[in-house]
Order: sequence, then C-alpha cells, then structure tokens
Amino acid sequence: MADPSKENIEYECEQCGTTSELTPIITYVYQGEERHICTHCLPTLIHG
Ligand SMILES: [Zn+2]
Repeated sequence: MADPSKENIEYECEQCGTTSELTPIITYVYQGEERHICTHCLPTLIHG
C-alpha cells in the first residue's frame, strides 16, 4: 500500500511544460482553478 503523503508529486508548468523535477513550480489559483507555473514563467504571468 502506497502512502499518499510520501508520494513524489510532479507538477508541470502550463506555459513552457517544464516539470518540478527541473524547475521550481509554483501552485496558484486562478478563477477557482488550481494552476501550476514555473519560476521562469512567473514574471510573464505577473506582467501579463
Ligand atoms: Zn514555465
């Protein structure tokens, strides 16, 4: 039986498609939906 709390969850950046394995991924909520973006694409998100 796998322990879900110890599962290594990998997120994918919705902008460039990189994974949390390579780049830190930030999780945020937009319009009630949970989204994921990497630190490279975050400035793009902030500046529109
Ligand atoms: Zn990205």
